[in-house]
Amino acid sequence: MAQPRKGIILVGAPGSGKGTQAKKLQEVLGYAHISTGDLLRAAVRDGTPLGAKAKGFMDEGALVPDALVIDILMEALDSLDADKLFLLDGFPRTIPQAEALDAKVTIERVIDLQVPYSILEERITGRRMSPSGHVYHVHYNPPRVNGVCDVTGEPLYQRSDDTSEKVKARWDKFESETRPVIARYQARGIVVEVDGVGHPDTIFVRIQAVLR
Ligand code: AMP
Repeated sequence: MAQPRKGIILVGAPGSGKGTQAKKLQEVLGYAHISTGDLLRAAVRDGTPLGAKAKGFMDEGALVPDALVIDILMEALDSLDADKLFLLDGFPRTIPQAEALDAKVTIERVIDLQVPYSILEERITGRRMSPSGHVYHVHYNPPRVNGVCDVTGEPLYQRSDDTSEKVKARWDKFESETRPVIARYQARGIVVEVDGVGHPDTIFVRIQAVLR
């Protein structure tokens, strides 16, 4: 299959709501959503060789080495229709990743979701996941039955990197490794900053407005 040519990137610190907004963009505007975090978690869950290599980094809130992440991202891009607009969530997080991406496709817009650290920490430590990918929050978006997914009935779990200790490490990585990626795209004039504080539906309206 020919490679897709054009897409957008959602960037933002861990807990800024990239995954939530990416799912809405996929459902409402038809983007092909690619999340390297979801792909890596699936690899860990399935016990693949990639998952075995990535698990330790993920548990620590560290970044998985570029070569591994670039490989899975390129594979995911190759599996999409060439004319489908794609949406990247969680990639690129480093300059080498951005270089690999830019050598392959055209990025038209980068949406930078802005959320202060104090809010990020609360969002992340209260986040609960279902194995099938539905995301809850103990206060802001609780399931109907405590600890159980509304959609699938599966027990919810907390990501191993969603603890207070790991949040700081992940934020530090975002500041040191991913800020320069945003600057790279800023220099091209394609970054749009979006206020990521508020109800997910309100934030989605802001994102749609900048994509028009
Ligand atoms: P996320 O779901 O995007 O928060 O990603 C969860 C974890 O997967 C991160 O903390 C990293 O350990 C790893 N990961 C996801 N995307 C990348 C990436 N682009 N580069 C390096 N590590 C990544």
